Amino acid sequence: MAGIWLGSSLLMLGAAWLVGAGGPFLIAVLVCLFSGLSGLVASFWLFNLRLLAPVRRLADHVRFVHEFRDTPRDTPQQMPFDLSRRSDAVGLLTRNLQKLIEESRSDHAALLEQTLNDPLTGLGNRRMLESQLDVLIPLSRRLSCTVSAMMIDVDHFKAFNDHYGHPAGDVCLVDIAGVLKDTFRRETDVVVRLGGEELLVLLINADKDEAWALADAMRAMIQALGIPHEYSSVASVVTVSVGVATSPHGLLVDIDDMIAHADEALYDCKARGRNQVASRLMGADTTLEGSQPSIESTA
Ligand code: GH3
Ligand code: MG
Ligand code: MG
Repeated sequence: MAGIWLGSSLLMLGAAWLVGAGGPFLIAVLVCLFSGLSGLVASFWLFNLRLLAPVRRLADHVRFVHEFRDTPRDTPQQMPFDLSRRSDAVGLLTRNLQKLIEESRSDHAALLEQTLNDPLTGLGNRRMLESQLDVLIPLSRRLSCTVSAMMIDVDHFKAFNDHYGHPAGDVCLVDIAGVLKDTFRRETDVVVRLGGEELLVLLINADKDEAWALADAMRAMIQALGIPHEYSSVASVVTVSVGVATSPHGLLVDIDDMIAHADEALYDCKARGRNQVASRLMGADTTLEGSQPSIESTA
């Protein structure tokens, strides 16, 4: 485009040289120069409008997509529509970039899912717990609300595996995880499998009594699944023990400390005969409260 303008200006300059002399020639030169310059400006303006500005917008969009790649899938990720529908090279580039972004986004989501979830039960894993803690703990501090941690452990699970086989043990864990998913459904509830047959639930804004009641209801539901366990000394079906630690309103939460307290409560349950919930209130003086199963043991 600039070449055409420059060429035509030079042609006009040549014509002026041939035709005129003196004053008219100087005017012709000035006109040619002006026309050449304005041609250059116009060419650059068009070049910027049609190519540079769209490419800059594409670059900005790709940067935006990259920065917000961990946000939910409904975050606007579509390329600017006016660019993607263009039939020229910019349109082609936009559509190809869109395809690339969609593919990388779905690969990223699948990878994230694998990294944060336990493949057997579909619950979160330890990494998921850590990533959730980054959000939940500052939130609980800011709102000064209670935090409860529950450690859940299957009673005599080794005997279950030994007698019914490891695959049956896996199915049992999946069924237990199903009860946990049904029980803890609030958006802020965190349910993870820490490893083996140990599961952890983290509840924001559930006080000690509420956490205990939820834990006991869950324990009863797991027993009510009726998964036969004739080698348990507790019941003829699979049961769990649950240790709960609750940090009261306004107390700064140290999650490792909470898990340690929940673990201690869990071991108290085991020592008292299993298939029960024990809870502790964190604070200056830690108290322990135990419970017997609210439904009759079938052992
Ligand atoms: P307690 O009532 O004291 O908790 O006894 P327990 O037998 O459950 O405790 P222990 O920690 O000795 O046994 C845990 C068992 O959990 C050992 C192992 O066979 C089983 N286990 C751990 N991870 C898995 C798993 O991914 N799948 C299956 N099927 N079993 C597992
Ligand atoms: Mg265990
Ligand atoms: Mg166990």
